[in-house]
Amino acid sequence: MMTLSQLVLASHNAGKLKELQALLGNAVRVRSVGEFSDVAPEETGLSFVENAILKARHAARLSGLPALADDSGLAVDALGGAPGIHSARYAGGGGDAANNAKLLEALREVPDAERGARFVCALALVRHAEDPLPIICEGLWQGRILHAPRGTEGFGYDPLFWVPERGCSSAELASAEKNRLSHRARAMLQLRQRLGLA
Ligand code: IMP
Repeated sequence: MMTLSQLVLASHNAGKLKELQALLGNAVRVRSVGEFSDVAPEETGLSFVENAILKARHAARLSGLPALADDSGLAVDALGGAPGIHSARYAGGGGDAANNAKLLEALREVPDAERGARFVCALALVRHAEDPLPIICEGLWQGRILHAPRGTEGFGYDPLFWVPERGCSSAELASAEKNRLSHRARAMLQLRQRLGLA
C-alpha cells in the first residue's frame, strides 16, 4: 500500500482537483500540475492507460512529487472502439456538438442491437517520474448510443449515452447520480481501495 501526504493531479481542471481532494480526504494534499508548468505532454499512447501513465510521469517529473492522471473517452462497438482515445477531438475540433453530430452520422444505419458502447476511464498513479510499477485503475460504464440527443446535464457525449440501469441518457442524470455510476466513479473507487482509503 502506498502512503501519500501530497499528490499532484495532471490536470488544470479545478473541478477535477476538488473532486479528487474530496475523494482522498484531508490526509492527502492534492496539488495541480499547473502550479509547476503549463506545458502539456504529447498524448502519443495507443491506449487510455498509456496516455494516463504518460501524463502522470510528466506531472511527476515537473513537480518532483507523486502524480495521478486520468484519461477517458467513449468506445463504440460498431466503430471498432472509436472514438476511443480521440474522443475529445473526434470531429477534429468544434467541440462537443460537432463530436456528437459526427457520432450520430457514423451510426446512422446501425440498428439498436448493435449500438453498444462504453465510457472508459483509466487512472495512473506514479510515485516518481520513472516509477516501474504505476498503480493502474480502470472504470467502465456500459450503455448504448441513442439516435438523437436527450438531456442537458453533463458534458461531451452524455446526451447520446443511454444508461440502461436508469432508463435515461447520462445527460438526464443529476450530477450526484452520474458521479455514483460513471466510469470515473468506478475507477476512483478502485483507487481508494488500492490506497487503503475505502
Ligand atoms: P478527458 O480525458 O476526461 O478530458 O475526456 C476526454 C473526452 O472523452 C471528453 O472530451 C469527452 O468527449 C469524452 N468523455 C469522457 N468522459 C465523459 C463523460 O463522463 N461524459 C461524456 N463524455 C465524456
